Amino acid sequence: MTVLALELGPTRFAAGRVASDVGAADIRRIPVPARAAWDSCRELLLDAAEGGAVTSVGIAATGPIDMVAGVVAPAEVAEWRTGFRIVERVRTLFPEAAVQLAFDGVCLALAERNFGATHATLDALSIAVSHRVSGGVMMGGLVAAGRTGNAGHIGHVLVPGFDEPCECGGRGCLETVAGVPAVLAWAQANGWPGTTVTELVEAVRSGAQVPVAAVGRAGTALGQAVASVAALLDLDLVVVGGVLADCGPALFHPLGAAVATHARLSYLPALRVVPSQLGDVGVLAGAGVLALATQGDRTPKGRQ
Ligand SMILES: [Zn+2]
Repeated sequence: MTVLALELGPTRFAAGRVASDVGAADIRRIPVPARAAWDSCRELLLDAAEGGAVTSVGIAATGPIDMVAGVVAPAEVAEWRTGFRIVERVRTLFPEAAVQLAFDGVCLALAERNFGATHATLDALSIAVSHRVSGGVMMGGLVAAGRTGNAGHIGHVLVPGFDEPCECGGRGCLETVAGVPAVLAWAQANGWPGTTVTELVEAVRSGAQVPVAAVGRAGTALGQAVASVAALLDLDLVVVGGVLADCGPALFHPLGAAVATHARLSYLPALRVVPSQLGDVGVLAGAGVLALATQGDRTPKGRQ
C-alpha cells in the first residue's frame, strides 16, 4: 500500500511517499517544467511510488484551482494556464487510487494542524510568504476548503496604501507587495544589485538597508492583511512560513507592529503571530494528510 503526496507549486513540483507520522518522506523535487509538464509530473510520481501499489494521492496546487472538477491552472506552467485536469490524469496513472486535489494554502493549514504550530488551537490562519502569498484557514479545528477549494487566498486581500496591479486582475492585493517577485522588484528599483531570493535573504540577514526595507514593506502589508482576517474570523493564532519568513525579525517586527496598530478589537489582543517550524515541506506534508484522509474515498470533501 503506497500513499503519495504531490505538490504543484509556482516554482517547483515535488512528490513523496506518505508516512502517517511525518506527512511525506523521500521527497523528490524538480523545477516547474518549461514544457511537457505532465510528462515530468508523471515521472516524478512514478519515481516516488517506487513500483508500489498506489492507493491514494493527495495533490496540493498553487491556486486558483477547481477542486470539484479536479482542475489546476497555474500561471507559471504555460501549457496548463487555461486549465489542466490533473485529477483525471493521476487517476489514469494509478487506476486503483483515490485522488484528491486541494489548494496549497489548505494543505499548509492541514500540515500546521497535524504537525506544526496550530496543533493546540482551534482557530488559526497559516500563511506561506514565497513566490505567491498563500494561506489556509482553520476554524473550530476544521480546515476550510471553500466552495471551489480556494478558501484562504490571503494573497488577494487588499492592503491599504498599495495600488500595484495584480496578476488576478485587481489592484493593491497583498501579493503585489509581499510576494517574492514584488519584494525583489522593489529592492532592485531602489538600487539593490541582487537577483535571487536567496541573495535577498542573505542581504537582509547581514543588515543591508534596501533589502531590509523591501522585506519590512512586505511585513507591514502582511500585518495589515492579518489584522483584517483576524478581525473577520476571530482567530487566536497566525503562523507565517515561506522563504521570506527566513528573514526573521526584518519581516516579523514590522508585521507585528502593523498587527498591533490595526488589530484593536476587544477579542484580538491575544492574537499571536509565530514563525512556522515546518520549513519548506509544509505544503507537501499537508498533501500527505489529504491523501491519508481520502483513502478509499473518491468524493471531494468541502472540509477536512
Ligand atoms: Zn490579486
